Amino acid sequence: MIIQDYTNIIDNFLRELGGDVNLRLNCQLPLQLEALDLASAGRDVFDREQWMTPFTLKCWQAMRLAAHQDEIELQLVSAFRSVEYQCGLIRKKVAAGQQLDDIFKISAIPGFSEHHTGRALDLSTPGPEPLSEAFDQTAAFDWLNTHAHRFEFSMSYPRNNTTGINYEPWHWACRAQ
Ligand SMILES: [Zn+2]
Repeated sequence: MIIQDYTNIIDNFLRELGGDVNLRLNCQLPLQLEALDLASAGRDVFDREQWMTPFTLKCWQAMRLAAHQDEIELQLVSAFRSVEYQCGLIRKKVAAGQQLDDIFKISAIPGFSEHHTGRALDLSTPGPEPLSEAFDQTAAFDWLNTHAHRFEFSMSYPRNNTTGINYEPWHWACRAQ
């Protein structure tokens, strides 16, 4: 898809919800194009099928196995999310009475989520509630900090990062192939 079509989809969506194009233009995050080639990664911790790029899948499988051999259980919470999925998520929040400005403090504007690329994984481990900061108190998090780079993964949003996104110790991305 060419960038112009992509940004048109985003702008139409923002207008549909009563927002305007400046929300996109002022977004400090890089635009993230949707992955074109996806492979099934099986079921996540909530029994939903998850998808990621074939290279990310290969790296994720190797990393999960290596962690398992060190008696660390890495669980998948979320991987690829389409622009349309992100739009649906935000429509639901608007329908529940939330303001767009508040929603976009937590959720990426469609087109700007690293999950569109099929390279970003939200990870968990038995114990803490998935997608909570408590993940950084686990042995799994320590393991990732030491070993994830060997499997081409890095934490996208460490504490005090400069992207404007809150600290997300559970969100790890594979390098582009
Ligand atoms: Zn994430």
